[in-house]
Amino acid sequence: MAVIGPSSCRANGRHMPMGSMGPSVGHVSAHHNNNAILAAAQPMYSSLAIGSQDIQPDRPIGYGAFGVVWSVTDPRDGKRVALKKMPNVFQNLVSSKRVYREIKMLCFFKHENVLSALDILQPPHIDFFQEIYVITELMQSDLHKIIVSSQPLTSDHVKVFLYQILRGLKYLHSARILHRDVKPGNLLVNSNCLLKICDFGLARVTEPNVAKHMTQEVVTQYYRAPELLMGAKHYTSAIDIWSVGCIFAELLGRRILFQAQTPIQQLELITDLLGTPSNDDMRHACEGAKTHMQRRPYKPPSLAALYTLSSQATHEAVHLLCQMLVFNPDKRINCTNALAHPYLEEGRLRYHSCMCRCCHSVGGARRFAQDLEPVTTLTFDDSFEKDLSSVHQVKGTNSYFSLAIFK
Ligand SMILES: [Zn+2]
Repeated sequence: MAVIGPSSCRANGRHMPMGSMGPSVGHVSAHHNNNAILAAAQPMYSSLAIGSQDIQPDRPIGYGAFGVVWSVTDPRDGKRVALKKMPNVFQNLVSSKRVYREIKMLCFFKHENVLSALDILQPPHIDFFQEIYVITELMQSDLHKIIVSSQPLTSDHVKVFLYQILRGLKYLHSARILHRDVKPGNLLVNSNCLLKICDFGLARVTEPNVAKHMTQEVVTQYYRAPELLMGAKHYTSAIDIWSVGCIFAELLGRRILFQAQTPIQQLELITDLLGTPSNDDMRHACEGAKTHMQRRPYKPPSLAALYTLSSQATHEAVHLLCQMLVFNPDKRINCTNALAHPYLEEGRLRYHSCMCRCCHSVGGARRFAQDLEPVTTLTFDDSFEKDLSSVHQVKGTNSYFSLAIFK
């Protein structure tokens, strides 16, 4: 296990060492592939600010569904950054629009707890444009790696992580963005426990028209909200809060809360804990799923089981968790109200005492920002998607090229 360097934070008079939060990025077997990505990038790509020949890919740090992430050195300032290669993005219109939307979002975000693009490497000519390289801040680990590791995870860690997840998500939701794949692996963490939400491959803008159908093929199954499992045609940002509830429980218990093999079994595990939902609580479900549920034997709720997750599952923790794990999305807590819960008070204080960039120390005293959990007044505008009708158009100078220029 690589230790990313000593770092600690003192808040509330208590000491919370965080130096061992680093991931095991040092064990890379594919080192010989380093030159391959460089060779692939060099002949065709140049950036406005960075010559790609100066970017020295060093080691792969992650393999997402839609690309490979490498750790590289930014020659402008010598800082380590992450380089994400998104290959074969122009195979068809659907995939090219999806990637374009993701990159446009990465360029839009301005929040400490949300990953954003630092730069986009662009090809000199549209004919060579097959893949896209995006540069983002480098984060050493993610919450999944930390949860499955042997590193200690104190209740101070849980609180500061949960605080940042909700803080970032509040910002995303204020921009009208649904993440739709909130899970531990998509929550990047660095050595001092700063957390950033990443991977916007499934994200989209909220759909205000409730009559419009939205795809249900979203969210990794373990973190999928019951309304999605029950075939809801329309859903809201409450699906992300459900995922956060599952992650909160996973942080407390250090195991996946609802780990089922199939979507049907997933729903079984959820109802084992929450009990059989009322008809009103299933109002967003499709008829088939409702009938299925009504035919099942009645189950009483067993929420007290949440106290057995760990000794860290205090009354306050379970009280907040129970407001996230609500079957009916209309009754589920939102980010703003969750952030106001007393359980997160210590996490907020710790974060703003020594981790944030919004507050400042002046003469030994901490001067706190006026708004500790800011939202954006700009909503993400997805109207550009309607005008994109061909792969060539998505590739065109009016899209990626202008994004890079605006960075
Ligand atoms: Zn602050």
